[in-house]
Order: sequence, then C-alpha cells, then structure tokens
Amino acid sequence: MKTLIKDGIIITQDPQDQVWLKGWLLLEDDRISALGQGEVPAEVTADKTVNAAGMAVLPGIVDVHTHVCGSLFKGMTEDPVGAFYGLALPMERLLTPETTYALSMLGAVECLKAGVTCINDIYHFMRSTAQAVDELGMRGVLAQKIIETDLGTIQYNDYTRIPKEGAARVEENCRLIEEYHGRDGRIFCRFGPHATDTVSVELAKKIVELGHQYQVGFHIHVAQKDQEVDFLRETYGLTPVEYLKETGLMGENLIAAHCTCATTEDIRLLEEGGATVAHCAEMYGKRGKFPPIAQLYPSKVRMAYGTDWVTMDPWTNMRTAIMAARMAGCPNELPDAHVALRLSTLVPAQALGLGDQIGSLEVGKQADVVLMDLRSPNLVPVFDDPVATIVYNANRHDVDTVWVAGKMLVENKKLLPVEESWVLAEGQRAASSIYEDYKAGKSGKCWEDEK
Ligand SMILES: [Zn+2]
Repeated sequence: MKTLIKDGIIITQDPQDQVWLKGWLLLEDDRISALGQGEVPAEVTADKTVNAAGMAVLPGIVDVHTHVCGSLFKGMTEDPVGAFYGLALPMERLLTPETTYALSMLGAVECLKAGVTCINDIYHFMRSTAQAVDELGMRGVLAQKIIETDLGTIQYNDYTRIPKEGAARVEENCRLIEEYHGRDGRIFCRFGPHATDTVSVELAKKIVELGHQYQVGFHIHVAQKDQEVDFLRETYGLTPVEYLKETGLMGENLIAAHCTCATTEDIRLLEEGGATVAHCAEMYGKRGKFPPIAQLYPSKVRMAYGTDWVTMDPWTNMRTAIMAARMAGCPNELPDAHVALRLSTLVPAQALGLGDQIGSLEVGKQADVVLMDLRSPNLVPVFDDPVATIVYNANRHDVDTVWVAGKMLVENKKLLPVEESWVLAEGQRAASSIYEDYKAGKSGKCWEDEK
C-alpha cells in the first residue's frame, strides 16, 4: 500500500532541519519510502494520493513523559494547594484495571488527536494502558509504576515501606514486558520505579538488575518536590539525582522526569550520566515551580519535552516551555520555535532509543506522520518559517490527519480506530465513579488486594 502526500509544507526535522514550502512524501506500508521538494516526480506512483495543499506535514510528536490515565484529574487538581500528594495520589488508589483502561483510552485519544504518535507512559495497571494503546494502533513506550509506599499517606510524610507491594509491582512490570515489549514494532516497555522517594535504594538496585536482564530502559520521577529532597537527604544522605547514581539507574537509557529541585552538582551528574530530563513546562506552570532551566538549557543535559498529565497538548506545552525559559533569562534561541519542536520530535525519539525509527521525516523511518491544517485564522499568514508560525500559534485542533506506522488513525479530525463518543462516555463514567467513591471516603484497594 502506497500513500502519496503532495503539495504540503514539509517540516522534516531531519538532521539538517530541512523545511520545504512545497513538497511531497511517499508512505509505503509502515515506512517512509521517499520524499522531496517541489512537484512529485513522474515516476512516483501511489495507490492513494492525499492533497496537502494548505497543510503542514510533520513527523508525529513524541511525548517523553505521560500518564494518559491521569486524564482523570482534569479540572480537579490544578487549583487546590497540595493537590498532587493530597488529592491525586490518594485517589489513584481507587483505580481498577477497568477504569484505568477507560481513562487511558481517553488520554491516549487526546494525545493522538493532538498529533502525538508516541507516548512514554508510566502508571498503575500499565497492561490496561497497553491494551488501549494497542487497540488504537498508537506507538508507546510503557512502564508499570513501581512503588513500595502507600500513596494515600505520602501527604503526611509517611514513607513506611511496603515490600510486598513493591515486589508485586515489579512482578507486574515483568509481566508487562513479557507480554508487550516489541509488539508489532510499536509498543516497547521499560521499568518504572515511580520516584526516588517511593522506591527504596535496595528495590531500585534490584530493578536495575532486572532492567539489564530484560535489556530495557527506565522511567522515573526525580526531584519533583522539596518533600522528596528532604526525605532522601534524611534517609540516605543523597539528593534525588545522587540516588540515580547510587542505585545504578543513571545512564543513557533513563528518562528522568522533572528534576525540579536539581542542584548545580546534580546537573553536572546528569551531564556525566547521560540521562534525559523530561521537561513538562505546562505542568510546572500550574504547580508554580520550574526546574533550574537557566542552567539546564545551556548544559549538556539532554532535555526532551513531555506533557505529564491532565493537559496533554504538545503545542501549548512548547509555547509554555519557550515563555518559561525567557522569563528565566535564557537567550531567545534556548529554546526558539525550532528547538522546541525538535525537543518534541527527534530528541525524545533518540532519548527512547527509537531515533533510527521515528522523530523525523526521513527515508526508511516509520511512517508516523501528522498533517496540520494551516487554513485557519490563527495560522495565516505563513512566511518562510512555518515552524515559528506553528509553534507560536497552533492548537491541537489544527491537527487534521495522523498516521502511525503507515496506518491512518485520524482523518479530517475524525478518530478512526474506535468510536470517539464511546471513549468520551466511558472516560466520564470511570472518572465519575472514582470521584464518587473518593467523596464517599472509600480508601481504595491496595495493589495486593487487586490480584
Ligand atoms: Zn509524571
């Protein structure tokens, strides 16, 4: 099956960052088999031709840090003070595999329709999320959230370890890897120690060993909160970044989310260790606390953009990242529109070990492609730098068509693999039932009880 996309603005995100104001792209089965500037050569033929005049053709966005199931918390956790430890984490205890599936489907559809073709997700009941990602035909790198503390009591600074819970979740992560890692060349798995304060040094070391055995990477939250920093210092005499080094998690196959409280020495360790810092600007804006971005951007630390949860719009996220950096005193090029787009496409792809497969429009790469409709008042006029026009003005609803691995999943803004109204209804139903239970004071089940 060959699909020809013609007469669009081609934003390749290739190593030369080539942009052609008029060009074409040929998708052959699951791959990009040819592309070029200008008119389509006469020898290029296809089974189907898509006229992309008035549209930009981009590689799919790679969101380097998500919890798609966290769509649950929209409009509930943004304003109350301390809502993350105090409201969101305790409410997570009420999730079941079924509600996780429904809410993951909702979040994944939100991502997909916004032009995100690959997520890097860590959460509870990850096999439920994997099922949603698989059914949608999306690409995902998935990790089971491993904790060995009670999510409901962290808000009281109670870090009592529950080894049984930790062990059960490690086992579940192994099962996820065995079941899904490499599936259809679309789904890959990692180990997901949740955070430096919710997983002991001992368990983290065990997870590292398993990661090497299974030959998969790691995904963790690092230095998100002062409470975490204080706990680590008092318990181990380490900063959260030093914990990464101590446990063996530090390395090129680690996605370290946030690093909000990173010190100058921590940044040096991250440079040396080669981990990628997932930077989730829009979430930081809501929490009112940003990582030391004026130090991070000019450093050698690899940064890539994620949306985290609740609002998973890569376009507003790019803008927020730029604005935050400028307010922190960074020069305009760190980041500018081109850097912001790159940190949302090729760089996260490379960070996930998928740089030779996705993240740019190049011959031989997977056909993860997005058409953005520029025929909208917010995207007119376009001059010779459509990347700037898009990054500063595009919204998720401007995304028109999305292919993953050559398969069209969104067409003219319509979701194809499943009925969207069903996704919305099930998502609302799952969220409402959890909220009702929470308000009724139900404490939620421990992981062990679920099994
Ligand atoms: Zn997160």
